[in-house]
Amino acid sequence: MMQTRRKFAHELIEAQAKINPTRVALVGADRRLTYFELDRAANEIACRLAQRSVGPECVVSIVLPRTIELVVAILGVLKAGAAFSPLETAWPDERLRSLVSESRAACVITAQGMQERFSACNAGLLLIDGERSPVLTSPPVRPCVRVAAENLAYVLFTSGSTGLPKAVGVEHRNLSNYIYSILDVLKPSPDDHFALLTSLAADLGYTGLFASLCSGSSLHVISTETAASVDSLLATLQEHPVDYIKITPSYLAALLSSDNANDILPRKCVVLGGEPLRWSLLQQIWKLAPQLGIVNHYGPTETTVGVVANPVSCASESSSLTVPIGKPMRNVETYLMDSEMSPVPDGTAGELYIGGESVARGYLGRPDLTARQFVPNPRAVVPGTRLYRTGDVGVKLVGGDIEFLSRTDDQVKIRGYRVELGEIEAVLATNESVRRAVVLAEGDAPDTSLVAYIESRIATSNQEALQDWLRRRLPGHMVPAKFTFIERLPSLPSGKIDRQSLKAVKAAASDPVAATIAGSGLESVEQRVAAIWRRVLKLEHVDSTSNFFDVGGNSLRMIQLQSEVKRHFGKSIPVGVLFAHPTIRALAAHLSETSLKIEDAGVRVAEVRRAAIADIRGRRTAERETVQ
Ligand code: AMP
Repeated sequence: MMQTRRKFAHELIEAQAKINPTRVALVGADRRLTYFELDRAANEIACRLAQRSVGPECVVSIVLPRTIELVVAILGVLKAGAAFSPLETAWPDERLRSLVSESRAACVITAQGMQERFSACNAGLLLIDGERSPVLTSPPVRPCVRVAAENLAYVLFTSGSTGLPKAVGVEHRNLSNYIYSILDVLKPSPDDHFALLTSLAADLGYTGLFASLCSGSSLHVISTETAASVDSLLATLQEHPVDYIKITPSYLAALLSSDNANDILPRKCVVLGGEPLRWSLLQQIWKLAPQLGIVNHYGPTETTVGVVANPVSCASESSSLTVPIGKPMRNVETYLMDSEMSPVPDGTAGELYIGGESVARGYLGRPDLTARQFVPNPRAVVPGTRLYRTGDVGVKLVGGDIEFLSRTDDQVKIRGYRVELGEIEAVLATNESVRRAVVLAEGDAPDTSLVAYIESRIATSNQEALQDWLRRRLPGHMVPAKFTFIERLPSLPSGKIDRQSLKAVKAAASDPVAATIAGSGLESVEQRVAAIWRRVLKLEHVDSTSNFFDVGGNSLRMIQLQSEVKRHFGKSIPVGVLFAHPTIRALAAHLSETSLKIEDAGVRVAEVRRAAIADIRGRRTAERETVQ
């Protein structure tokens, strides 16, 4: 019997456009596209790419904000037979240009106004204008190109320990296998709605992206700005309830710290991945939504989104430290092996190796690295098959589920992003004021933050200057929140830096001074804002003039800060206000100025204040009227 080939991602979406042309495929902030419209718009991009001879094995970088145009562009690239490579608009120009050249992109798709960022690149430019829906004399059809299962489907960059990010090349056969497997796990229907909350420059979001569009469901594309603000996200999800979300445990935990946490959760299933999942977060979800499906999903970028899944139920609670990651998905093999690549017995910790259909092509242009991480399978039935060496340590539990235990190296997750500490160290080492640098991760997820230990060449090194310098070279999540300057980094007899003893080193100069609060009418507001900052940033002291983002503030902590301010001042502060008032003093001044709200959540106090507020409001209105 002839076996039918699995369809590729774009063919599955095209099939939905044929079956359900009028169904809504994409929902954005201000417009939506049906499957027919999505297909047509993507065909237009594919034709424009084909006119430039972009086809199979060509890489197309996409640098667009997270809007429906980004998804249209991805589908357009696939329809042209090429490989898409999304990069974040927020990354520094220098990094964007180096990633475009590292992937040898034939073309960069970006928006009007951003093209100058790529003027020094060799790649061609294709500008997308989000406002304009294409006016066409005849509906464009997909270019006639032959795509093979072994052709590249996408290229994603992951942090590299030697200082250069690695370009992971994933083929169509890998992506198709993932799509069929995840549809098997989630079983979405065309009536379902998915929310896309995370960056497409990492594959966490590909679960929702492809599971929705390949099953005829609707995908709500949530912008970076909305996803960073609890209030905006809540408002969006209250207006458009969704059935599925994929999210990291740390992001979900931050969102659940807000009021109305219930509305953050989808109706059918939350897929958690990218980081270890704690039992306490599961308990919290079950308490809010006892019927909600929860899937713990595991997988490195090099093995295509996810390879192990654990649909968790109350009954699955075990004595494991974190929630087990589960069993291999369709056409995936998992092996736990020792350092000689011999299998370890069940119940014994071993390094996790992954084989089967999901193993990607490797690191583009890096045969040495590819050979080191993608190794021949010593027990291969089919000769020549490879295993991906994950660097994750796991253990097989009774019943066959795998539990994730730790890493074998310095790779860490910062707010869901994979970070090699060596990459930051290598960049820091190129700063002329730095003699030697070590970066360590402190705290467990979701509170992991980066600390840089610097042996400086100059006496006047300062944290802010180095942070600014790094921000021009690395994505925000890779910039350490704290810098400690020390005269000599401790060394091992081999001459290498003794990383372990560093943690004991006391900060020499960077410990912020205790908050000094200017005496004024603002005093109490400022003190209360300072207390919130200390809780959110987990710091004993914060200077009232320090910038939130320089003392450990990040997008997750910003969400917590918003929730706390709302709880204590009854006031929503949009992200823009936080950026405009990034210090305790500025925020306190802003809150005092604009806050005629109840200062305390206590009901008794609230009643008294409400009357006072009404009084002040009345008097202010009267004053304004007199002036006019
Ligand atoms: P990335 O390539 O960014 O997807 O990161 C892959 C790494 O994230 C894995 O090698 C693990 O270290 C970690 N990881 C991913 N999913 C999980 C999970 N469900 N539980 C624990 N760690 C995870």
